[in-house]
Amino acid sequence: MGAAIVTGAGQGIGEAIALRLAQDGFDIAINDISAALESAQAVAEKCRAHGVKAECFFADVSSYDECEKMVKEIEKTFGGIDVLVNNAGITRDGLMARMSEENYDKVIAVNQKSVFNMMKFCGTTMMRQRSGRIINISSVAGVHGNMGQINYSASKAAVIGMSKSAAKELGRRGITVNAIAPGFISTAMTDALTDEQKKTMLELTALRRYGTPQEVAGTVSFLAGKDGAYITGQVIEISGGLTI
Ligand code: NAP
Repeated sequence: MGAAIVTGAGQGIGEAIALRLAQDGFDIAINDISAALESAQAVAEKCRAHGVKAECFFADVSSYDECEKMVKEIEKTFGGIDVLVNNAGITRDGLMARMSEENYDKVIAVNQKSVFNMMKFCGTTMMRQRSGRIINISSVAGVHGNMGQINYSASKAAVIGMSKSAAKELGRRGITVNAIAPGFISTAMTDALTDEQKKTMLELTALRRYGTPQEVAGTVSFLAGKDGAYITGQVIEISGGLTI
């Protein structure tokens, strides 16, 4: 099947994506920021249980230089890069009037610049191969906006524009680029919200339940697999009807 890179795969949605792609038969490069994250090693173990190769590559994806070095190492380890999933992301929520410049810049760097870094370096390898699948994890906040998330929604809206531009640039080389916009998915990121915020999200969700990381991973698997071959430049919302 080839090799897949999943950024921020030490936990949450990234972990579920890594496991699902391993189940599909891809060798997996698990990226996360901290080598101290034992869970990344545990994710690698669980991937290997599917009979594929899996290794951890620790790097801060907001750093251009670290991404360049990591992508070279991954290519050397696996002999190519067939799927890139830009999943790493953070929140630093707050109302615009009170948001610090630091919290604005940090979210843009981790959620948006990282997508440029990784698409640039992996895209070069994929162009040489004349094939590849890139899946960028955006958010419903990037499509519809969200109060208290001006930094986050800016970064996730940018990811959608970047996915469409890259789809146009890379299409002639057989590379697809799509974005997924999840709604409320149960992970450490959403655990941090207040009970009030969680209740509001639930009331706005047509299916009246939160999504699971595995439900996002299922769509990644589809886009990375043979049935997703003619889909590019699209945004797929996985939100239980949060935005209808
Ligand atoms: P999560 O549980 O917080 O996991 C994100 C992972 O990314 C963490 O392991 C984190 O490491 C890692 N990471 C953070 N900064 C990084 C960096 N600079 N370089 C490499 N790795 C980094 O989050 P999640 O809920 O699974 O979210 C995954 C993606 O889905 C994010 O892009 C998020 O914006 C998006 N999303 C989530 C939801 C949701 O409801 N959960 C909804 C819409 C979109 P540390 O923990 O060490 O920082």
